Amino acid sequence: MSDPSLNPYHRAQESFRRAVNTLGLDPAVYEILKQPLRFYEVAVPFVHDDGHLEVLVGYRAQHNDALGPTKGGLRFHPQVDADEVKALAMWMTVKCALLNLPYGGGKGGIRVDVEKLSERELERVSREYIRAIALVIGPDKDIPAPDVSTNPQIMAWMVDEYSRIRGENTFGLITGKPLVIGGSEGRVEATGRGLVFATSQLAHELGMDFAKTTVAVQGFGNVGSVAALFAAEMGARVVAVSDKEGGIYNPRGLDVPAVLAYKQKARSVVGFPDAEPITNAELLELPVDILFPAALENQITADNAPRIRARIVGEGANGPTTPEADRILFDHGVMVVPDVLGNAGGVTVSYFEWVQNQTRFYWTEAEVNRRLEEYMRRAMGAMHRMHERYGVPLREAAYLVAVERIAEAMAVRGWLK
Ligand code: NAD
Repeated sequence: MSDPSLNPYHRAQESFRRAVNTLGLDPAVYEILKQPLRFYEVAVPFVHDDGHLEVLVGYRAQHNDALGPTKGGLRFHPQVDADEVKALAMWMTVKCALLNLPYGGGKGGIRVDVEKLSERELERVSREYIRAIALVIGPDKDIPAPDVSTNPQIMAWMVDEYSRIRGENTFGLITGKPLVIGGSEGRVEATGRGLVFATSQLAHELGMDFAKTTVAVQGFGNVGSVAALFAAEMGARVVAVSDKEGGIYNPRGLDVPAVLAYKQKARSVVGFPDAEPITNAELLELPVDILFPAALENQITADNAPRIRARIVGEGANGPTTPEADRILFDHGVMVVPDVLGNAGGVTVSYFEWVQNQTRFYWTEAEVNRRLEEYMRRAMGAMHRMHERYGVPLREAAYLVAVERIAEAMAVRGWLK
């Protein structure tokens, strides 16, 4: 990567460095946080259906476990590389500490194009990866979960492989599992729900009545569609939604369940009756109270940030706002619920899944949702207080909350002297 400011690992290091300086902490805190405590690169040999052997490269980063075992997803993607995995593990450290989960950050991945694999090949790759890292993961060491191009089925194969190696069922090894083998109620909807919980809390703190707001949502997948549905359930007027084919707009408000039903048939929201077509670029610039980017990274840039008219941007996607755009939004008074909080509902319910596995006592969906709301609101409150105390954007405030907690844990554990 030629421009070092675009390297996600360097960006994550810079965020930690700034937080340690702002908090006036011992520089040793940054020396420990600037890289993962452990980083593994493993060979993942697997046999294709035609009998030939290929060796893939896999990674697992365990950034910091001062607060508890490391936790973070597994990504199967052709562009996975060491720096990306390290950066994602560092962001997980921030998310977990901000949400006050008893975890540090981890992340893993395999450099592979899943679209070129058959179902059986995908299963063999998943099992081989677990064999390669089995010694360094575990319910009290490092707990993986799904991420880009991995899903509950892959988690099921992985927990099965680990259980075979151990000779005992170890459902707490991994989260995001199918319900029948210890998955949690509410896990699939958790990220979208958490996003709405956090954003409605901020709206409240800004003196806005969430039930009277207008909302636009970019991306109508797992995160965006649940956020749209839940925002509408809470009384907000969802005026626009989009997917990669384009968007739809109705200033009087969309019937979100009807849009969902339409999308299931038509595979896109585009063409939904009772709405006019709109591009993804236009959607971002609509005169709404709340904008949820819930699709891809780098959607709000220095180019379009001056034209964003929402009062609150609630980041569902990871990294939808570039650092330059972040500064522009801050200068224009647009509040951003940063991704480390906005999409932390997923890891929070992953934590609940792990608690249920460890205790063998399973909760109802209502119980999961009630606790999720409590965790999101508490994290929002802590972040908002840091924002007011230091006069920094919410994203920086999120790092301050997280780094303060991790530094305290490292200090009492005696890591800093
Ligand atoms: P998804 O694949 O279910 O949905 C993605 C949506 O974005 C789809 O509607 C797709 O059509 C749309 N999209 C794709 N390209 C687009 C484009 N160029 N313009 C507009 N829309 C486009 O994915 P998801 O699980 O909803 O994840 C969305 C984002 O949230 C990602 O950044 C992901 O990393 C992040 N995230 C998801 C979770 C989770 O639990 N699912 C947790 C944390 C973060």
